Amino acid sequence: VRDLHRELNAWGKVHRREFPWRQTHNAFHILLAELMLRRTRASQVQPVYRRFIADYPNPTALVQGNPSDIGDHLFPLGLAWRMPAFQAIAEVLVTQYEGQVPQDYESLTQLPGVGDYVASAVICFAFGIPQALIDTNTVRVVGRIFGEKTHAESRRNKLIRTAIQGLMDPVSPREHNYNLLDLAALVCLPNNPLCSQCPILSLCTTGQARTAENR
Ligand code: SF4
Repeated sequence: VRDLHRELNAWGKVHRREFPWRQTHNAFHILLAELMLRRTRASQVQPVYRRFIADYPNPTALVQGNPSDIGDHLFPLGLAWRMPAFQAIAEVLVTQYEGQVPQDYESLTQLPGVGDYVASAVICFAFGIPQALIDTNTVRVVGRIFGEKTHAESRRNKLIRTAIQGLMDPVSPREHNYNLLDLAALVCLPNNPLCSQCPILSLCTTGQARTAENR
């Protein structure tokens, strides 16, 4: 595991992608970004995110915002229909948490429309808690490391979830999760993983098997 952290961190320092929501510790902004990033591409989210946090920098501003204007902000992402959920979350933050984002997983998952992935991302990226992110991408990478074939439903598999959490880097949880997400997006691609360019090839069961096949 230590070797994996070392290799991933070295790779991440060179290849980690820069996004505006990765340059802040503002939990509300990170929460907004993660809500926007579900089922959308990061490149599409960037301009929408920038405009959104400029107009609604805190939960109070979002509660007081015009619903139609908020929907217009979200429209380019196909998320206009989620406008009521965005405002409902802000309402709970204002009324129950004095305008702050709660720092614990259970409270976050009680917010309207906030599930496991978004709650985990917020507590890791905003508060530095070493919480694994479980989605099809991290499941794919970690499944391959252990030589397991995965599919969409594998993210509910307890063994896979435990393995992803077991690989967490407690010293640099933010960077670790960014590295894993970026490795999935740039190298460990769904259909044709670029194993020869992978920093953890020597540690990966699937990568080793593919390399041996191609010899
Ligand atoms: S070696 Fe290949 S299969 Fe393994 S993590 Fe890297 S890209 Fe994915």
